[in-house]
Amino acid sequence: MEAAATLPLLLLLLLAAALPAPSHGWGVDGHLMVCQIAQGRLSGAAAAAVRDLLPSYAGNNLSSLCSWADDVKFRYPWSSPLHYIDTPDGLCNYSYDRDCKDEDGVKGRCVAGAINNYTTQLLTYGRSSAPQYNLTQALLFLSHFIGDIHQPLHVGFTSDRGGNTIDVHWYTRKTVLHHVWDANIIQTAEDDFYGDGVADYVDTLTKNITGEWSEQVPSWEECGKNQTACPDIYASESITAACDWAYKGVDQDSTLEDAYFSTRLPVVNLRLAQGGVRLAATLNRIFG
Ligand SMILES: [Zn+2]
Repeated sequence: MEAAATLPLLLLLLLAAALPAPSHGWGVDGHLMVCQIAQGRLSGAAAAAVRDLLPSYAGNNLSSLCSWADDVKFRYPWSSPLHYIDTPDGLCNYSYDRDCKDEDGVKGRCVAGAINNYTTQLLTYGRSSAPQYNLTQALLFLSHFIGDIHQPLHVGFTSDRGGNTIDVHWYTRKTVLHHVWDANIIQTAEDDFYGDGVADYVDTLTKNITGEWSEQVPSWEECGKNQTACPDIYASESITAACDWAYKGVDQDSTLEDAYFSTRLPVVNLRLAQGGVRLAATLNRIFG
């Protein structure tokens, strides 16, 4: 009897493990690009602190660990709500006091609160011989979350969980709208324009940052007076972009192809570049 009862349970567990987990953030390549752009823009002091805080196996390559926060969501279940913000349906704006909370209503438990928290932790770097926090983890969380908050659907509507419950076809493939913005648009751009290589893609974004976007870059880097991190600005931009671009014209079971791809790719590229520039600016403010 016992074995018969255990078997269906085991099957259920296996089935549950096989289902796609809801995604939380740019895919691996998106996070890699944000971190690679950022590491190339660090001040001497920030570059030295990052080198010091990264585990030695990372070989001083921040981008190799920029998806670490996604990998530990099951080991650290408390960290799951820190990857996104749910805003009221249809409102297209964001307020920290109203929206930055988890499903139980605990204030500050959202991606903006997490960015503030890990920034505060990193500001203790070098101040004490017995550190109070795990600053390696703080660096990896901050680097990941500054990427996430720039993905427009990471600041999305509550009832569709940032597009996670909107089924769509990306060309012929079945997926959800959230995943289109995490990964499909980036993947299609790599296939179409970058010989399937992320290095070429990063190169192009980096050239645009010093080229066609260079006049806007100082305004991307700005943060309020005496502020070290500015996640509320980035969250407001994301929900605006979610309404103007991600959700726009998309219904349950829409098929998204060339027309959607060509008009949304510039938005994705801008958000990846802004994420990288702002991660660097934040680390430069933290480490001096
Ligand atoms: Zn994430």
